[in-house]
Amino acid sequence: MDKGGEGGKFSANKAMKTISSVKELKENIKSWKKEGLTIGLVPTMGFLHEGHKSLIDRAVKENDRVVVSVFVNPIQFGPKEDLSTYPRDIERDKKLCSDAGANILFNPEASEMYFKDASTFVDVEELTEGLCGSKRPGHFRGVCTVVSKLFNIVTPDKAYFGQKDAQQLAVIKRMVRDLNFDLEVVGCEIIREEDGLAKSSRNTYLSKEERKAALILSKSLNKARNVLSEGERNTKSIKRVIEEVLNSEPLAKIDYVEVVDSITLKPVEKVEKEILIAIAVFIGKTRLIDNIIF
Ligand code: AMP
Repeated sequence: MDKGGEGGKFSANKAMKTISSVKELKENIKSWKKEGLTIGLVPTMGFLHEGHKSLIDRAVKENDRVVVSVFVNPIQFGPKEDLSTYPRDIERDKKLCSDAGANILFNPEASEMYFKDASTFVDVEELTEGLCGSKRPGHFRGVCTVVSKLFNIVTPDKAYFGQKDAQQLAVIKRMVRDLNFDLEVVGCEIIREEDGLAKSSRNTYLSKEERKAALILSKSLNKARNVLSEGERNTKSIKRVIEEVLNSEPLAKIDYVEVVDSITLKPVEKVEKEILIAIAVFIGKTRLIDNIIF
């Protein structure tokens, strides 16, 4: 690995580039490829936190060069969702990326990413039918389309995604396999606040009271883990336990609680193989997701 010297990792990091044009990004990628350098990609929607940073840190460790994309992708938001209010702070994001050792922050406008008459989209079937897929129609089509475009533009050796968005990670892995993308998808563990709340850009929407109430998500999953450890294998009972905990919090409104096979994402009745317990809960108006693998 190229770690230093002229044009090497340390000098390159000091001068992290922020690029908003696809053409310019491709030129940089081309010259890295000519040098035989490996490339890691971390796709994000910005307003970066420790969860994103853990992905960037890992990418910096495992690749010669790292591209972080910050793009609030309009086509993955539903008409009633929070596209216009999604938190943004590109200056803070630049500092976090640069401090973490990223080489390029790619921050395009929507008009740079999508042709006005764009007519090609990527749809992953089956895996997107349940969980967030059924609650957010068109969401994964938007995610898979933008991630495919980023893969084609950056041609990374490895791309980093968080287990926080468990369905997204499974869907992207399937897409990479099905479409023969020549890269490795690396899944990274969920980073949490000290009290257990999964870090999320959307946590910033929460009032003080809601922030306290939001703890109920991780609490309910911990309870589920406990009953599983005690030998419970009936997923109806496990769901009931989670729902009881969530319903004890007046500010929480369940969107879904599901126990599914961790690979197929199909609901299971009895826990026999590795399962994913995924929940989506409104705390006030803010929709939060969390999950555990068992
Ligand atoms: P987002 O900016 O929310 O689209 O997230 C960008 C990437 O960061 C996705 O792969 C997420 O799964 C990942 N991510 C977000 N929050 C966390 C977290 N708390 N821990 C680990 N990864 C995360």
